[in-house]
Amino acid sequence: MTAAAACPSPAAGPVVFRAGCPHCRSSFELAAADLRLAIGASARTTFYSFTCPECGEAVRKPAGERIVELLTGGGVRTMRLHG
Ligand SMILES: [Zn+2]
Repeated sequence: MTAAAACPSPAAGPVVFRAGCPHCRSSFELAAADLRLAIGASARTTFYSFTCPECGEAVRKPAGERIVELLTGGGVRTMRLHG
């Protein structure tokens, strides 16, 4: 048994995140494994990134406090940047 997380989880299925691509303007759902979160020293250097499943472009978007909480709670791999 794993310890319960603080946040409520949906009844069934893996956690997915809705995301949009600024390159081809398609929107899609991504699993936690498809996303990377980088937490910098300030909000300006905190962002999440993924590869668009439609056009293959690397997308990087700023991550606010709420998004960081959402992603980390959903099991997205987090990288802490220094400086
Ligand atoms: Zn795209």
